[in-house]
Amino acid sequence: MTDLNHTSMKSVAIIGSGPAGYTAAIYAARAGLDVTLYEGMQPGGQLTTTTSVENYPGYPNGVLGPQMMEDFRNQAQNMGADIQSATITGVNFSASPFQLMVNNTTQVTAQIVIIATGASAKWLGHPAEQRLQGKGVSACATCDGFFFREQEVVVVGGGDTAAEEACYLANLCSKIHLLVRSGKMRASHAMQQRVLQQEKITTHFHTEIEDILGEDAVTGVKVFNKQTQTSQTLPVEGVFIAIGHQPNTSLFTPYLDIDAQGYIQTVPGSTRTNIPGVFAAGDVQDSVYRQAVTAAGTGCMAALEAERFLSNSLLA
Ligand code: NDP
Repeated sequence: MTDLNHTSMKSVAIIGSGPAGYTAAIYAARAGLDVTLYEGMQPGGQLTTTTSVENYPGYPNGVLGPQMMEDFRNQAQNMGADIQSATITGVNFSASPFQLMVNNTTQVTAQIVIIATGASAKWLGHPAEQRLQGKGVSACATCDGFFFREQEVVVVGGGDTAAEEACYLANLCSKIHLLVRSGKMRASHAMQQRVLQQEKITTHFHTEIEDILGEDAVTGVKVFNKQTQTSQTLPVEGVFIAIGHQPNTSLFTPYLDIDAQGYIQTVPGSTRTNIPGVFAAGDVQDSVYRQAVTAAGTGCMAALEAERFLSNSLLA
């Protein structure tokens, strides 16, 4: 990391601004710690790309994802957290206090770092996919499946995520087309069996999306079968991309233990990483649940563990 002329010391630096980061900020600031949260390039995180959130407790009529994140942010700020519209572009965890580079220009140090950078859903990269995100194209059946009740939808992917999403949607939708690009699914045997047992799911092997149709809403999907070299249009209103998630860990890989899927490894039942004083919360360390409420829960855990860590450091 380059030398810079401005360095300021923080007690707790939180990297990331989804439910995990903001909740960590609420708890840590309320405990009287000096908290700075760096929002990153997508303030509010993945929830800002979704519409109504109906499964977060406390909102009986649901809430728009961006609104919920604004509520979290305001609450963190009201508790005294310093929220910076800035991105951490580099870290040095080789010694404590830890060094963080802000926007490639300013260096800060922190006694505690809570990483809450989340995971990003992988997308196919079709232009129509981006245009129709939130208008029929989604990467989260648990979040958005409800809007497609009794409708026909497509799920793309052949792994456990796609199998789970397809089975979840089978309880809501009238028909699910599961598009698998190769001749076999990568999902576990048990999940493949569940897919097979669902009458509403039709699996199309060797099949990829050619185009997603519709201007302001999805009206169909044109698919191409590589084996038969034929195209057809499926009359669907929803498209769920389930080809995996990429945890946002690239900054931390030189220092932290990362699992085979790229998630930060934490000590089971805690948010502690392999570096004392560095904690990880939310989707960046969770490949299983990936829900706003579980992310918020681990954000709370990280703040409590950080508080204890600081108290023990003072006593030492
Ligand atoms: P995976 O990497 O396991 O699977 C991704 C799937 O998407 C593969 O079928 C892959 O095809 C397909 N794919 C990738 N890119 C494209 C593309 N551009 N176009 C079309 N298809 C594409 O990701 P998952 O998210 O499913 O799972 C990640 C990990 O999390 C796994 O270890 C899984 O077991 C675990 N998991 C566990 C769950 C559970 O235990 N309940 C639930 C969900 C996930 P191909 O095979 O051809 O590469």
